[in-house]
Amino acid sequence: FMFQDKGFNGEFRLGSGKVPLGLKRKGLRVVVTGGGGFVGSHLVDRLMARGDSVIVVDNFFTGRKENLMHHFGNPRFELIRHDVVEPILLEVDQIYHLACPASPVHYKFNPTNVVGTLNMLGLAKRVGARFLLTSTSEVYGDPLQHPQVETYWGNVNPIGVRSCYDEGKRTAETLTMDYHRGAGVEVRIARIFNTYGPRMGIDDGRVVSNFVAQALRKEPMTVYGDGKQTRSFQYVSDLVEGLMRLMEGEHVGPFNLGNPGEFTMLELAQVVQETIDPNARIDFRPNTEDDPHKRKPDIGKAKELLGWEPKVALRQGLPLMVSDFRTRIFGDHADGFG
Ligand code: NAD
Ligand code: UDP
Ligand code: UDP
Repeated sequence: FMFQDKGFNGEFRLGSGKVPLGLKRKGLRVVVTGGGGFVGSHLVDRLMARGDSVIVVDNFFTGRKENLMHHFGNPRFELIRHDVVEPILLEVDQIYHLACPASPVHYKFNPTNVVGTLNMLGLAKRVGARFLLTSTSEVYGDPLQHPQVETYWGNVNPIGVRSCYDEGKRTAETLTMDYHRGAGVEVRIARIFNTYGPRMGIDDGRVVSNFVAQALRKEPMTVYGDGKQTRSFQYVSDLVEGLMRLMEGEHVGPFNLGNPGEFTMLELAQVVQETIDPNARIDFRPNTEDDPHKRKPDIGKAKELLGWEPKVALRQGLPLMVSDFRTRIFGDHADGFG
């Protein structure tokens, strides 16, 4: 029915994604690549809740069907097992491109960031969809500017052990801007800072998941190096809110999305002790190569242009993740005492 396809006042053209926030509208058709993963599955929950039709494209490299099972059987939800490194034909309005092996343990030697992003941009171009790239604070490398502002070009070792991820995302940003300038694709770029929450991969090697799983299992928390390096930890619901505001807003970005609360790894270990087990021990391990010494987002731009800022502090968010980890590690009958 034509009127519905045009939406109200013809303002919403199929494929344009131009729908003012907060207005009643026909649900959009949205692709979430990597929707089986940690961040993606929370995003899918929000999109489903607002009435969109959601297609998840995921090869389950690090994602899990369990993160999405509650949507199985809903006619607005579709799950496609597919590697985004291969082309795919879909008809959609918006593409949230999250597919990426995101943990250092997984991301080595994987072409997803470059070839997968190219394919999703090709798809966006063909169907006139709006495309959002989830880039990363890693594009700033071991930053010489603190906190990091979007205008900072970064300090990345192009031949280091992390460069596959860092440079992969930098290339993904380049491709995104080239498709924007060259082919007129509507694009959005988010630079995501360290994010944690329920459904994080238990053994994916990232620091928050490692410490929480270790403390729950009564194993020592592995602090790499002297533990004085810093990170800023964002709760997943804050990130999802930021991603959706970015997609619906009028600004290309890049935008830093992160929580400016900065912690050393030793301070993080202390928060985990407070939350799980005051007697949890710490084990020092050699640090990985090229580990950034500090990281903290300047979120002034997102505050001003997206009206966004994180709401959940680490000490509030961590317990929510811990109860999810407890259930997944010890089973449904976890008694709350590990
Ligand atoms: P995740 O590993 O939980 O999710 C990534 C998902 O992508 C998984 O479901 C995985 O199976 C899927 N995937 C990987 N390669 C694929 C491929 N070739 N084809 C199809 N699917 C593929 O990680 P996450 O933390 O949810 O990260 C989501 C996005 O956010 C990533 O792009 C990541 O780079 C970015 N990001 C995350 C953080 C963070 O702290 N979580 C920080 C910066 C950036
Ligand atoms: N692509 C895709 N789905 C589409 C359209 C394109 O997967 O609906 C892939 C396509 O196979 C190509 C990439 O996206 O590998 C870039 O497409 P584009 O049309 O920009 O480049 P071209 O094919 O002209 O080189
Ligand atoms: N780290 C740690 N113990 C771990 C895992 C990581 O001390 O078990 C440190 C790591 O060296 C880095 C910080 O925690 O300094 C964040 O690492 P993560 O892999 O979570 O994220 P990224 O390095 O991508 O910010």
